[in-house]
Amino acid sequence: MKRILITGSREYRDLTEASDALARVLQYLNLAPHEAVLVHGAAQGADTVLATAASAMGMGTEAHPAQWSLHEGCSCKDHSKRCGFAGFRRNTYMLSLGADFCLGFPLHPEQLPPGTPTKNTSRGTWNMLRSAASAGVPTYFVRHENGRRALHQVIP
Ligand SMILES: [Zn+2]
Repeated sequence: MKRILITGSREYRDLTEASDALARVLQYLNLAPHEAVLVHGAAQGADTVLATAASAMGMGTEAHPAQWSLHEGCSCKDHSKRCGFAGFRRNTYMLSLGADFCLGFPLHPEQLPPGTPTKNTSRGTWNMLRSAASAGVPTYFVRHENGRRALHQVIP
């Protein structure tokens, strides 16, 4: 069973694009849908959309929700609030389980103009993509260009 790790924006909604991208990855890896499992973080947006697409195609899915109430290896000052590091911790864990491919759906470019607020800028997505590429996992992200979609490799 090959493991396809996905990451993406919580604002991501494009089921058609998600299905197309998954089909291309399966083709690239020369796999039938039942030979692959989609590994995701169970968040709203990309995780949910991709899990829906994967199930419809006959792929397995494996969810790893972040543990927001657990404070571990973080620098949070207030432990009564949700852990600001939980998403990163979960991403590191998913990667540690092994991945044959990593596919990202950021809604924002990796490099933003200086001074851009960091909220909802696909920061977590880029962190996951960088980590996977650095770990030697073939890593790609979907980018829109002139109304067309293209898969681009993340070079470590
Ligand atoms: Zn914390």
